[in-house]
This record gives sequence, structure tokens and C-alpha cells, in this order.
Amino acid sequence: MAEAERRLGELDHGEALLFSSGMAACTSVVLALLSPGQTVALAEGAYYGTGAMLDELRRWGIERVEFDQTGAPPDGVDLVWLEAPSNPFLTMPRFDAAAAHPARVVCDSTAATPLHVRPLELGCDIAVHSATKYLAGHDDALLGAVVCKESTDAARLLEFRSRTGPVPAADTAWLLLRGLETLEVRVTRQSQTAGTIAERLARHAAVRVVRHPGFGGLLSFDVADAGAARTVETSTELIANMTSLGGVTSRIEARSRWEGARVPPGLLRLSVGLEDPEDLWHDLERALGAL
Ligand SMILES: *Cc1c(COP(=O)(O)O)cnc(C)c1O
Repeated sequence: MAEAERRLGELDHGEALLFSSGMAACTSVVLALLSPGQTVALAEGAYYGTGAMLDELRRWGIERVEFDQTGAPPDGVDLVWLEAPSNPFLTMPRFDAAAAHPARVVCDSTAATPLHVRPLELGCDIAVHSATKYLAGHDDALLGAVVCKESTDAARLLEFRSRTGPVPAADTAWLLLRGLETLEVRVTRQSQTAGTIAERLARHAAVRVVRHPGFGGLLSFDVADAGAARTVETSTELIANMTSLGGVTSRIEARSRWEGARVPPGLLRLSVGLEDPEDLWHDLERALGAL
């Protein structure tokens, strides 16, 4: 585990600590660094699990407000929570405006990976990752990471982790080390393929909106409605209709199934894997042709 933490710290240029899942990492940041009566400003459209976790912590006195992360965070909050890019809306935060805020700034850069975004270099205090996704990269490990700029924050999180127990198993940390060996080649290829697919989707008559920040293997696009999204996600053959993201095989899912009215009913999230880009496009084109 220590070796995996050292490697992650090198990638994000800070002090890294591993947790038993991405959500354990996110929850630990809030519980270790905030107190009852304090408020988190959460980026609108961020990972729905982060909002659900903050809803849970409301009983413990942690409040939350939401803000548009393409602008400045609101005044009077105690923690700013960004997501780069947000999942599944793929917006990017305005890092300079967040860094100018007096509160600590956390950035969940799961979907970007340190290959594309290093939050600590952009003025954030803490980067968090669901290492379950791109960092481990093979859909076989549940793991989270927190990377701190300040040693005092890292020491506090280490103390919190020791006292409360969300520590990963050593064999899971080993799976992360294995994944990091190929992180660069995987994510570079996934980014290129996702860029190609995003361009072609944008020209397809059945597609209303395409969201891709220009890097990374995650994109989302909208078809007419929930029924159309269901048809597409159940018509692909190469691309699996499954939830998780960041692995070597492509996955598609209509997100309204989990996120309800928070997302457009026709929104499909696509996590691009390492398959041949032309094979992926033909699969999607055929599925869209079923509409
Ligand atoms: C999946 C995900 C998480 C939660 O991670 P788990 O490892 O599944 O607990 C947090 N943030 C983002 C952006 C994610 O995609």
C-alpha cells in the first residue's frame, strides 16, 4: 500500500493516502476536515454519489449548497468541492476562481486522471479519486485515493483513517500498482477514441447533444427521450450495458435510471475502452439506427 501511495503522490504531486473506495475517500475528507455547522459548496452536476453522501451527513450537521463550477464558488462556505470533468455532464471547473476562495478546495479528478488534470498544480488543496475507475483500470478493484498539498491535511486524514478504518486491503493496493503501469497508454488511447466518437456522434441525426471536454475516455450524449436511450443501451453488442467506468472495455448506460430527473431522460454515458475505434463506432451507429 505504501508503494502505491508513493506512486500516486508522484503522479498528482502531493501526499497520497488510499481508502477502501472512492466514496470512502470522499466521505473521509468531509468528516476529517469539517465540523458540524459547516457548509460544502458542491459543483452542480457532480457525481451523484457525492451529493448522496452529503445528504447523509446533513444529520451530522454538514450543510451543502450547489454552484455552477464554471464560475466562482459562493462566499461563506467552508469547503469547495469541484469535479474535473463532472460525471456525467463533463463540465470543467474554473480553477482560478476556486483557488481564490478562502476555503479549502477539493477536486474529484476521477474522470480526468493525473494524466490530464493535476488539481494541486491548479490551486486546489486536495485531489480525490475513485481509483476503482481509470487508475486501477480493469473493473476488478474497489479503491479510493486522497492526495493532499499540505502535510497537515495528509496527517489529519491518516489519523482519521486509522481511527475509523476505511483502509484498503494490500492485494487491492497491488491491483492499483499494476494498473498504474499502463495508465498512460490506456488513457491516451481512450482519450483519442473518445474524441473520434464524440465528433461522429455530434454529426449523427439521432443525437441531440454531445459532451466531451476534449480529453479523457468519458463522454455523454442525449437521444430524444428515455425510451430512445433504453433502445440504444440495449442494442449495442460490443459496448456492454453496465454502470462502472474507466475500464479497458467500453460501457454505456442511461443515467436517469440512477439519477432520475437530475439528468435529461435521454442522457447516455459512455466510458470508452481499448477496443478498435471503428468497431466501437459501428456498434454505436447500428444501435442508433434502431431508433
Ligand atoms: C465512481 C466515482 C466515485 C465513487 O467511487 P467508488 O470507488 O465507486 O466508491 C466518486 N467520484 C466519481 C467522479 C466517480 O466516478
